[in-house]
Amino acid sequence: MPQDNSSVSFVLSRVNADFISGGKAIPALRDISLSVPSGAFISVVGPSGAGKSTLLRIILDLMPHTSGTIVRSFTQPAMVFQNYAIFPWLTALDNVAFGLHMQGIPRKERERIARAKLQEVGLEHLERHYPAALSGGQRQRVGLARALTMSPDLLILDEPFSNLDTITAEALKADLLKIWRSYGMTIFMVNHLIPDAIELSDSILIMGAHPGHITKTLQIDLPRPRNPHGDQFFKKVDELTNIIREIS
Ligand code: ADP
Ligand code: MG
Repeated sequence: MPQDNSSVSFVLSRVNADFISGGKAIPALRDISLSVPSGAFISVVGPSGAGKSTLLRIILDLMPHTSGTIVRSFTQPAMVFQNYAIFPWLTALDNVAFGLHMQGIPRKERERIARAKLQEVGLEHLERHYPAALSGGQRQRVGLARALTMSPDLLILDEPFSNLDTITAEALKADLLKIWRSYGMTIFMVNHLIPDAIELSDSILIMGAHPGHITKTLQIDLPRPRNPHGDQFFKKVDELTNIIREIS
């Protein structure tokens, strides 16, 4: 496993953040402390409204925090959004190449890179298709391929499987594991499915709401590749399910 525990991707120490609404501060995140090793696969679970997406925004500095410290050691983050966030008026290829276009990379070169990334997510045959002609799983893969064009050392995903059927989600999960291994990147993912989080992650942060906080961190020390039908696996599912039941 390409994992270097001697370095960290990012560290949050006692971080607080507020939403500002009508001139008033509404607590968004409270006392968040976490340390993510470079190359780790971390999942965040918790009820809707717990502040999971807000935490992702804070990590990426898309939203300010009010106190505490954040040390970002990653150099190139990339994000895959929950609702695809791809442009309906661009083909799959142009969607994947979009970030490279913004960086001023010439057409030939950006198309070469975009084709290679489409191939990595198994969509090379659909490069001329527009999003309307793609399934939900294929759109999510376009978003993933676009993120990969940035050669990220930190990949952040916000519930990437939530709009997918089980079979599509299984295939995407396998691809994500393959990509994680081959790139050696850090993955930080919001995931609402407990078995998926356990199958994928080195550790799982469990968040509670009002305001968003980390209730518990569960280490998943099962050997990889993981057998989602094994006794040890079921024990972890039980453990995580019980923790979530207690807090909700
Ligand atoms: P999650 O991703 O865990 O479902 P979010 O991070 O999206 O949760 O939101 C956490 C809470 O903050 C929710 O109750 C949501 O309604 C609220 N919230 C999100 N964005 C804003 C905002 N800009 N202003 C005020 N409240 C917000
Ligand atoms: Mg969310």
